[in-house]
Amino acid sequence: MGVFSVIIDKKGAVFRNGFRRSLAGCRRYNFSPVQEKKTWRCPNLTDAAGLHKKSVVVDGHCDTVHLFLGTQGPYSFGELNAVGQADLPRLRSGGVNLQFFAVYIEPEFKPHGALQRTLFLVEHFWREMGKHSKDVVVVKNKADLGVVKNTSKIGALLALEGAEPLENVEMLHILYRLGLRSVGLTWNQRNLLADGVGVGASAGGLTPLGKAMVTEMNSLGIMVDAAHLAPKGFFDLLETVSAPPIVTHANAASLCAHRRNLSDEQLRALSEQGGVVGLTYYPPFVSEQKDATLEDLLDHFCYIAERFGTSVLGLGSDFDGIPRAVQGLEDVSKLPRLTEGLIRRGFSAEEISAILGGNFLRVLQACLPQEETDEDSC
Ligand SMILES: [Zn+2]
Repeated sequence: MGVFSVIIDKKGAVFRNGFRRSLAGCRRYNFSPVQEKKTWRCPNLTDAAGLHKKSVVVDGHCDTVHLFLGTQGPYSFGELNAVGQADLPRLRSGGVNLQFFAVYIEPEFKPHGALQRTLFLVEHFWREMGKHSKDVVVVKNKADLGVVKNTSKIGALLALEGAEPLENVEMLHILYRLGLRSVGLTWNQRNLLADGVGVGASAGGLTPLGKAMVTEMNSLGIMVDAAHLAPKGFFDLLETVSAPPIVTHANAASLCAHRRNLSDEQLRALSEQGGVVGLTYYPPFVSEQKDATLEDLLDHFCYIAERFGTSVLGLGSDFDGIPRAVQGLEDVSKLPRLTEGLIRRGFSAEEISAILGGNFLRVLQACLPQEETDEDSC
């Protein structure tokens, strides 16, 4: 990345080299902002809180389940905690309406203890959500999405990060019964389904079992997550899925050349297939400079919007899976600042609502099962 020059125009819009967005008309692909005729109302900063509040905000990835075990010290999901980056009070002040909760299996449990560890963490997820059933709905089908949209309950979606416990489709069905609705095929290593990005240049694509499992996920109503997947597997996945795929936490590799970020080719293919990438707040995925800020993260939103459209954009904080987030978004309670930033960069109100959650909702609506079925109950 080169050195940015920053121009602030008279309305306070921030333009940076290569990431200019027009306030006039909030139009994408517009590099001459001043003369452009205004075509629809652009929000201004005084609208930020209202726009954030009325949007359905969805975050595609957090690792908060591990905090339920007390790994970072005393922690109670229902209270404001001194540790971690997310809990119920902070999700509320951040305006989050639906949070994906990942079950991440630590390397010491792989491969042979993976199923046991997954079940252990799933039990803690349900135990904690059960304590807060007045405030939380566990999202398993389209009807639950309606609850998220129409009530003050926060949706919690159970996700798996790395498919090590899935040695056959029966295991997938069991975890589906336990509420699993999003599966990341790999973490960074190789497993029976595919290779993660940590395998390196020799990484292969999806295995026959991986392809069969993806087909089964789509038919059950489980979203398929390509975060951490090596590029060959990513493109195999896009050829295999029958519903839009997601990448729950990654950024643009053109702005930050990290192996976990997506190339332009991947972003284009994901966008063309109606998928969503949740942009993540972990500084090493945001900037190659030392201290990444909210402005650096906003560059990723602008870069992707200008080249591949806003409909591919979502949020994927990785809160509680990262030691620190970008300056300005230190924990989930700070999330309204992202909306302010998107306004400053010239996104329209419609685009901002879509980025905050509308795009993820579109994929959830396409993927989740219609309503409670026998398989849902256990
Ligand atoms: Zn991850």
